[in-house]
Amino acid sequence: MNDIDKKWLKDRFGRDVFFDEPMWRHTTFGIGGPADAMITLKSDQQVKDVIGWAGERGYPWMIVGAGSNLLVRDGGIRGLVLKLADGFTVIEQSSQDGSDRTVNVAAGAGTLLRRLGKHALNRGLAGLNFALGIPATVGGALMMNAGAWGVCMADITNAIVILNGNGDIVTIQREQLRFSYRRLELEKGSVILRGEFRLKRTDRETLQKEALEMQRRRRLTQPLSFPGAGCIFRNPQSGMSAGELIEKAGLKGFRVGNAEVSTKHANFILNTGGACAAEVIALMKHVQQEVLSKFEINLEPEVRIVGEEIRAQKLL
Ligand SMILES: Cc1cc2nc3c(=O)[nH]c(=O)nc-3n(C[C@H](O)[C@H](O)[C@H](O)COP(=O)(O)OP(=O)(O)OC[C@H]3O[C@@H](n4cnc5c(N)ncnc54)[C@H](O)[C@@H]3O)c2cc1C
Repeated sequence: MNDIDKKWLKDRFGRDVFFDEPMWRHTTFGIGGPADAMITLKSDQQVKDVIGWAGERGYPWMIVGAGSNLLVRDGGIRGLVLKLADGFTVIEQSSQDGSDRTVNVAAGAGTLLRRLGKHALNRGLAGLNFALGIPATVGGALMMNAGAWGVCMADITNAIVILNGNGDIVTIQREQLRFSYRRLELEKGSVILRGEFRLKRTDRETLQKEALEMQRRRRLTQPLSFPGAGCIFRNPQSGMSAGELIEKAGLKGFRVGNAEVSTKHANFILNTGGACAAEVIALMKHVQQEVLSKFEINLEPEVRIVGEEIRAQKLL
């Protein structure tokens, strides 16, 4: 990026723009090379303006939520990384239907899903307990159709507000949303700005008991003491889960450098200290090859791998 473009960003976003920002600071894996520029955005207008500008100047851009499903390669990200901050963390109880049982709660895309889950829990609103242990933002959770214990974002979503590829802010109702397993299909170049969720009034104590039980099960089954990105591979459509296949292939504890297949949950890869993306990717490839040769099943990554190999040329 030339100095004029850097100045445009600096003048516009001041202390909210960071050049050569290490992405390991913004992913739960604690891995990732530098982004040419990272900008934290506070309003719909700012998102619109910066994306319009990036288009004119030919810079690629991407949105990062809590970075809990991202593996950023060691060479980092060329172009702009956009994070939705302050103006996108508002939670509002927007309306309820006549029966007084169903309550609509809207939340900005930058809101932590856990915070939204606690908001619902404290008010005796059922539907979001599954989300309490997922370290996502609302935007990232919608995009990934995050879920646990048989419930997912698609089950509670009423509508979302997006900035579409034409630069228009539009609301998409549930019937038009194409959710599938760990995926929401949106027109390319869309940014989720807000989500609206339909929750049900219920007894708060029962809800709290359920939440505690879910958290207990999560602690029992998931390795949470080292950085990771949750489940690395998507579960195959039928038969054994990805975790069961990896375990049966004898890969629990298998390492490449400082990246390790968890001994607790085989579908987690952990950064045991100073792992780089190349190690994680090499480990993922090994796991895929072993599972393919033993079970003839092709494991597809759930984690999104972004960025450049270490020697890629920088744009900015
Ligand atoms: C310990 C641990 C446990 C986990 N448990 C679960 C679990 O139980 N269930 C589950 O489903 N997942 C789980 N995950 C994975 C992860 O939390 C989810 O995939 C989550 O939905 C990612 O949200 P995020 O905000 O971190 O998104 P990111 O990882 O930051 O981004 C994911 C994708 O969404 C896009 N995106 C993010 N925000 C927006 C936006 N506003 N508009 C458009 N695109 C956007 C990004 O560009 C990227 O492509 C776990 C992860 C960890 C580390």
